[in-house]
Amino acid sequence: MSGRTPTVESTEVPGARQPSRGTAVVRQTFGYVNWTLRPNREPDAPPTRFKFRCLTEDESGKPCGTESKESENFAIARDWTFAHMQSHPTHVSYAEVVVRPWAMWRIGPTR
Ligand SMILES: [Zn+2]
Repeated sequence: MSGRTPTVESTEVPGARQPSRGTAVVRQTFGYVNWTLRPNREPDAPPTRFKFRCLTEDESGKPCGTESKESENFAIARDWTFAHMQSHPTHVSYAEVVVRPWAMWRIGPTR
């Protein structure tokens, strides 16, 4: 998935001074930038987190909906399903819910 957004880039030119005011010269580029969305695997990305939700339906078709706590440790979330089934022996259907960080990445200007 990708898209593009209009952008304005400003770059200070090192050592360049406008004679009359003494301020740095700023160069601006107008154009479009391409973006792409992909999993964020950078060191500072938020951690991937897991949880499970009970999907077992009662006689009227209403799902249980009880969920484990969200955890960075998959085994903690998974183990909740066994504890839930111990207290609700007919609850055997679950959904894994994964919260995985994604980020928009700039892939360069286009014309
Ligand atoms: Zn349940």
